[in-house]
Amino acid sequence: MFLGGIEAGGTKFVCAVGNEDGSILKRIEIPTTVPEETIGKVIGFFKEFELNAIGIGSFGPIDVNPESPAYGYITTTPKKAWNNYPFVQAIKEKFNIPIGFHTDVNAAALAESALGAAKGLNSCLYITVGTGIGAGAIVQGKLLEGLSHPEMGHILVRRHPNDNYKGNCPYHQDCLEGLAAGPAIEGRWNKKAEELQDRQEVWDLESFYLAQAIMQYVLILSPKKIILGGGVMRQKQIFTYIHKYIQQLLNNYIGLPELSTSIEDYIVPPGLKEDSGIVGALLLGKQAYQKKETRLSESGMK
Ligand code: ADP
Ligand code: ZN
Repeated sequence: MFLGGIEAGGTKFVCAVGNEDGSILKRIEIPTTVPEETIGKVIGFFKEFELNAIGIGSFGPIDVNPESPAYGYITTTPKKAWNNYPFVQAIKEKFNIPIGFHTDVNAAALAESALGAAKGLNSCLYITVGTGIGAGAIVQGKLLEGLSHPEMGHILVRRHPNDNYKGNCPYHQDCLEGLAAGPAIEGRWNKKAEELQDRQEVWDLESFYLAQAIMQYVLILSPKKIILGGGVMRQKQIFTYIHKYIQQLLNNYIGLPELSTSIEDYIVPPGLKEDSGIVGALLLGKQAYQKKETRLSESGMK
């Protein structure tokens, strides 16, 4: 089976052709500019292949409800050129094959659960800390969905008493993303996050906020593994601080080794390194293909 995968990010798109076990045969990166240009290049890349299905893991917010008239759209993104953009429709117009469509973090959660750090478990949470903060959850073996997809990056956290940074979420100002995503780190310390490597106070404060959010995800979703990826998490020292803060916050309330002696194996980096998103996109393609096969066989056409 040949599958196409699109990991659509705010800065770049990663496209790959791979197969049903998630192996990548060919890949390219395309800068995210305006839809005509970026999607034009995506289509150019896939044209050379005879694909069975395509999976898209996209930045959001997106409409993932197949019953909705706006299904397949990127909806209220602050990226103006992509506002109300019919993403699935644009791909479908050129490739009349099954298309899977979900958030980038849901794709990554799917890949980590099938092939990465949460392999063999029926639940996990994948959190990205990059230009934004978002998370995808697998619950009882399935992606968590409801009215729409979760937006876990925009929850409220307690401020650190010494932190005067206002926050930069255009919707909520000092939600988690407004205080702890990459651009917030840069806004607070006046330097790019990747240039603050040696400033331990930066990563201590970063973890103070991330740990509060993770505590709430643990209490509400009770995932069997928590995976932290995204550009900011390249600062591996954040893991040590987070482990410490989570233990302080929970204060032994959950008496399980995952939250005490083995917390290093519970809150972990991605097993697929930087490929969780793109491998997840391939798996979304596989799911879309399988759904279509099931529909055909149920309707007696196969
Ligand atoms: P995106 O969120 O657009 O998919 P990334 O996950 O790479 O992309 O996140 C980009 C953010 O991560 C930027 O704010 C950048 O400053 C930050 N970042 C990238 N590399 C590092 C690093 N090594 N250490 C800390 N922050 C980083
Ligand atoms: Zn917000």
